[in-house]
Amino acid sequence: MANEVLRALPAVDALLNNSAVAALLSAFGRPLTTAAIRNVLTEARAELQRDTLDSPPPSTDELIERATGWLRDQSAPTLHALINATGVILHTNLGRAPLSDEAQQAMLAVASDYNTLEFDLASGKRSKRSLHAEALLCQVTGAEAALVVNNNAAAVLLVLRALARRKGVVISRGQLVEIGGGFRVPDVLKQSGAKLVEVGTTNRTHLHDYEKAIATQENRVALILRAHHSNFRIVGFTTEPDLPELVALGRKHGLPVADDLGSGTLLETTTFGLGHEPTVQESLHAGADVVCFSGDKLLGGPQAGIVIGREGVVTKLKRHPLARAIRADKLCLAALSSTLLHYLKDEAVQKIPVWRMISMGVNEVEARAQRMVKAVGGELLAGKSTVGGGSLPAETLPTRLVGMRVRSPQRLAQRLRQHRIVARIQDDRVLFDLRTVPPTADSRLVSTLQQLLA
Ligand SMILES: *Cc1c(COP(=O)(O)O)cnc(C)c1O
Repeated sequence: MANEVLRALPAVDALLNNSAVAALLSAFGRPLTTAAIRNVLTEARAELQRDTLDSPPPSTDELIERATGWLRDQSAPTLHALINATGVILHTNLGRAPLSDEAQQAMLAVASDYNTLEFDLASGKRSKRSLHAEALLCQVTGAEAALVVNNNAAAVLLVLRALARRKGVVISRGQLVEIGGGFRVPDVLKQSGAKLVEVGTTNRTHLHDYEKAIATQENRVALILRAHHSNFRIVGFTTEPDLPELVALGRKHGLPVADDLGSGTLLETTTFGLGHEPTVQESLHAGADVVCFSGDKLLGGPQAGIVIGREGVVTKLKRHPLARAIRADKLCLAALSSTLLHYLKDEAVQKIPVWRMISMGVNEVEARAQRMVKAVGGELLAGKSTVGGGSLPAETLPTRLVGMRVRSPQRLAQRLRQHRIVARIQDDRVLFDLRTVPPTADSRLVSTLQQLLA
């Protein structure tokens, strides 16, 4: 009996020639459509063999429907744009910094045509890709030289490898942090081939701890490294030498000083009611030989690792073979240049989404939240937005939240995610922070909620 039922399943070719499959063939192509049909037939056969009730085989329509579902799943993109209503401005899981309109357009222009990535139009000769963002970086920061690589983790790796391979790198114990996504300062040091010379204690490290480590010369120290604590803060009985003190120490012993700022910022964060995040300009002014920071944290640009500093040191980095393996691509350079231009033109706060969100007044968030409450119900609550991205740990911005009390907040949050909206859940409420939602997306948020609550 089972064999008869199996034989009742159509052949692959019969299904491919079915008129209902023509649309699938034109949408997905023959090889993928054939694979889909083979797949659903194999599954149907397995089902029938397991089946003890002698059920009839699935109809041709049913098989075609399953093949359609399989094709949709296989070809669906996994990287979707979404609405971030969490109030975390630099959310690493949600892609960190959204780009300005100008940066998006610059990427598109370079993506759709050939370009001058390594070509000089005036002479017709080969030029350098390093030209594009680096001059702007020097102009914006006042650095002698700059280099752009794939991300800041790669930038730190390059600095350590090029300047301190097989030699010692002195760093305070309090800075041996894990940043998230598996970036641990001691592990990166190990990968670079440099030797870790940790000094001081978790909470207190003094200049004489560095002095002693350099003086013993056991590890032939080649570099002094300072790393930002990133997403954690040591409070209470703490001390660490500041950058100018480390630079003075470096000069005394002929050692370069590298400063990994993590996020770094070109704008002073205290003007926006936040705590002070170390600025790139400060590090240069203090005399750091190289300063590293991310392109997609507070800079508000594409994923990139930016290294700026003294000409001689940066040239050494550029010539290192590892630099080629971690170089930035044309799309990144286009978006980064556009982003840097916003700083140069003194329009960063108006144009760069990250800064627009940081500088958005609580009144503006409240007005939008009130409109949302009017449309979908819920309550207006006082709350806090965070910057995230390893910058400004424990710092928050006052905000207004829309809170929805529903029977199952988990269920509502899940259904919102199906509509690509990510919200927060707290105290049995689903919370929306409009600070991180572009104002143009308010209406989509409202209409989706109306639909889900109906
Ligand atoms: C974020 C961060 C990094 C890594 O930067 P990516 O651009 O994510 O690779 C390195 N160091 C510090 C201190 C950071 O905060």
